Amino acid sequence: MYDYDLLVVGSANADLVIGVERRPGAGETVLGGDLATHPGGKGANQAVAAARLGARTALLARVGDDAHGRLLLDSQRAAGVDTVGVLVGGAPTGVALITVDPSGDNSIVVSPGANGRLTPADVRAAACLFQASRVVSAQLEIPLETVVEVVRNLAPGSRFVLNPSPPRPLPGEVLAACDPLIVNEHEARVILGEACVSEEPADWARLLLAKGPRSVVVTLGAEGALVADGHGVASVPSVKVDAVDTTGAGDAFTAALAVRLGGGAALAEAAAYAARVGAAAVTRRGAQESYPTAAEVDAL
Ligand code: ATP
Repeated sequence: MYDYDLLVVGSANADLVIGVERRPGAGETVLGGDLATHPGGKGANQAVAAARLGARTALLARVGDDAHGRLLLDSQRAAGVDTVGVLVGGAPTGVALITVDPSGDNSIVVSPGANGRLTPADVRAAACLFQASRVVSAQLEIPLETVVEVVRNLAPGSRFVLNPSPPRPLPGEVLAACDPLIVNEHEARVILGEACVSEEPADWARLLLAKGPRSVVVTLGAEGALVADGHGVASVPSVKVDAVDTTGAGDAFTAALAVRLGGGAALAEAAAYAARVGAAAVTRRGAQESYPTAAEVDAL
């Protein structure tokens, strides 16, 4: 009865990456290697990850009427994402300017551009996408007021999944809609604020649950994840792999979790699958380029 397994509402960025011997200081110019341009942004990443797994996926986002916007639309379509909800124009496409030194340390400047112009009115105008979607996911690289409008437009019976990245305090209305709220350590600490009275991830999960979400997932990188709901806290073992590049692992995890939950899996079961997807993603370079198909996850 649903046309889409997952509707992702979020950001689409062009990641412009230059390798440098040394990152420049104030007033300094350094020469770097060739520019590499990659499709990115948490929303676009999640949509590609879900579609690669075989989920019927739509993206609600905004890009500029420019070459970066076309790159992002092309990468979404190539992965099989329905781009009917990708709005074009209003500002240049969001960009992340990234310099990386040989040790892997980077400096990043983000221009949200069109992502910052994805408005509550854009959400209301996409009502038919919300009605057609079993699960809706979001992140915080778009305005918070737009995310608030997302939870107000969820179809009855659909499920909302939020990765609050970059983190900021969330209104109770948004927290109450999350099933689950998915955080890493940094995001857990920011959202808990002064309530973060423990160094134990299991305590973060319990404390976050007390703030209103129906369920919580804490991702722990190579250590796996924790899930928490009314039944208590459970750990999800990590999958041992040779990690090459962890960029975008969290987005792959979130997309896989959302898709599995929509398919009827219990939270711990969906998180175990998502951990396999996250593990597969870290075995290859890049973000979207690293995302596995369902067959590749099964083979892991
Ligand atoms: P990012 O912001 O870099 O996308 P994140 O901090 O939101 O990531 P992580 O906790 O790093 O999210 O990773 C998400 C999930 O991916 C983890 O819970 C884990 O299941 C899997 N994962 C990440 N890194 C590794 C690793 N080195 N080995 C195995 N699995 C990993």
